[in-house]
Amino acid sequence: MTPHSESPHERHDIKAHIVGGGIAGLASAVFLVRDGGVPGPNIRVIEAAQLGGSLDAAGSPEQGYSMRGTRMFGPAYVLTYDLLDSIPSLDDPAKSVAQDTFEFWQAQPWYDKARLVEQGRVVDLSSWGFRNRERADLAKLMLQPEDALGARRIDECFEPHFFESNFWLMWGSMFGFETWHSAAELRRYLLRFLRLFPDLETMQIIQSTRYNGHDAIVRPMLRWLEARGVQFETGLEVTDLHFEPHEGGQAVRRIAGKRAGMACEIDVAPGDLVIVTLGSMTAASGLGSMTAPPPAPARSGAAWALWQRLAAKDPAFGRPSVFCGDVERTRWVTFTVTERGDGFIHRIEQLSGSPAGRGGLVTLKGSAWGLTFHLYPSPAFPGQPADCFVWWGYGLFADRPGDFVARPMVDCSGAEILHELYAQLGWQDDTPALLAQAHCIPCLLPYGTSQFMPRAPGDRPAVIPAGTTNLAVVGQYCEIADDVVFTVEYSVHSARLAVTSLLGMPHTLPPTYRGLEHPNALVDALRRVLA
Ligand SMILES: Cc1cc2nc3c(=O)[nH]c(=O)nc-3n(C[C@H](O)[C@H](O)[C@H](O)COP(=O)(O)OP(=O)(O)OC[C@H]3O[C@@H](n4cnc5c(N)ncnc54)[C@H](O)[C@@H]3O)c2cc1C
Repeated sequence: MTPHSESPHERHDIKAHIVGGGIAGLASAVFLVRDGGVPGPNIRVIEAAQLGGSLDAAGSPEQGYSMRGTRMFGPAYVLTYDLLDSIPSLDDPAKSVAQDTFEFWQAQPWYDKARLVEQGRVVDLSSWGFRNRERADLAKLMLQPEDALGARRIDECFEPHFFESNFWLMWGSMFGFETWHSAAELRRYLLRFLRLFPDLETMQIIQSTRYNGHDAIVRPMLRWLEARGVQFETGLEVTDLHFEPHEGGQAVRRIAGKRAGMACEIDVAPGDLVIVTLGSMTAASGLGSMTAPPPAPARSGAAWALWQRLAAKDPAFGRPSVFCGDVERTRWVTFTVTERGDGFIHRIEQLSGSPAGRGGLVTLKGSAWGLTFHLYPSPAFPGQPADCFVWWGYGLFADRPGDFVARPMVDCSGAEILHELYAQLGWQDDTPALLAQAHCIPCLLPYGTSQFMPRAPGDRPAVIPAGTTNLAVVGQYCEIADDVVFTVEYSVHSARLAVTSLLGMPHTLPPTYRGLEHPNALVDALRRVLA
């Protein structure tokens, strides 16, 4: 891979205010410098909480590591790899993050031999368990135009038996789909990830970064941006944008916020650009401990409050409550486990037939919480000691009582989550010994799957909201035709569109992969569906 060269023409006349320091905001800053020639010191990134947003990871072997999410990448991540190809990797500045990720995948690819496990036994996946009606429903969903689906839910497109199929258990758990989510989004996923069908159970085309997302992506990006003079301000919550008429539309002229609880304002001069991340799937998240469940969220956080305020002023900003208005339907529990000793790791390696970090996802079929987990290759964190191992998991149905722990997952401590998981594997008798080595930190994400809620046209604003002249909205809740949310790629895509549109640059984006345009992939997928 050849590193991207930076734009030779600097545009000193332009200043940019970026609200939100997640990957969408950081990617916007990189594109402004690299492709747009905006000098780094002219760019300010404003962040209410921590830089990196959802791409967080922290902790120590003693206190336990934790991260709210994990990251699977793949060949469809064209724009992400283009971005990361410009950024030197954490350990070796001569190698880009993209190259490092690719080499890591070549050296340690996933090959899952235990994608579904039921009562401690690996499930035979030679058949995906479809009936003919379900095959037809799946084909129908993929072939009909998105407009025809409107705000329909997934369970309005299939018979109940479909959701018991091995296909659905793998697909739904891998991407985080639940039956009440958007059928239009599922359709996009089926077409975008059509190339996955032949490898669905082995997951061998899935790529991941060498370390967790924060160390592998965010730290190198921050280093690159800081070296170019980009300014960062954390602890500043943006509460509103004030507009004035401009060129037949409206331009942002002031950014209102709160710094340490005190109101503040930032002037936006004529010619300045504003890029705002709307909404956040990790807003208002909280961590529990081995002995306590995560706390209930006190408020929805800056990201949702700002979007609500903008939408109340102008319908061009869409309808945020479609996504953040039903926490019972959007909340998710994830958990990170730090092991001092290889007892659990060794057992999973034996069960799955794969060394740690090579086996991909394991979903526990029949588990009321819909438990899925995977083991990281060591080290997942730079400096992680050799006798320390990290794994990560989640439950799709956090509101249901467990099969062995009679409480909803949201109300469980780390130890209780492990109790349930060991019991699902049939290892109840060894629970005390396994618990003695483990430190499990649960995390409650009230808006974890909010981006998947059923939506209709107009619920998500365009990247350049109609009628605005110096503003772009980025992240997971703007509308980008054909692309799929709950991905880093979507946020990077939005950033690329924001920068090229605001700077009036030619749109040189590669086309989004659409399965229906690839007959070979379609045939391969069909073959697998018919098996
Ligand atoms: C559990 C989980 C698993 C995932 N798995 C994958 C995966 O396998 N593959 C994949 O590609 N992606 C995955 N993702 C998704 C991916 O991590 C996200 O899509 C992506 O990180 C979102 O980035 P973002 O910058 O758009 O938003 P965020 O990460 O939400 O960042 C937005 C930032 O903006 C700040 N902000 C917002 N509004 C304001 C304001 N008004 N004032 C100040 N600051 C503000 C927030 O504090 C936040 O830090 C996963 C996510 C989770 C949670």
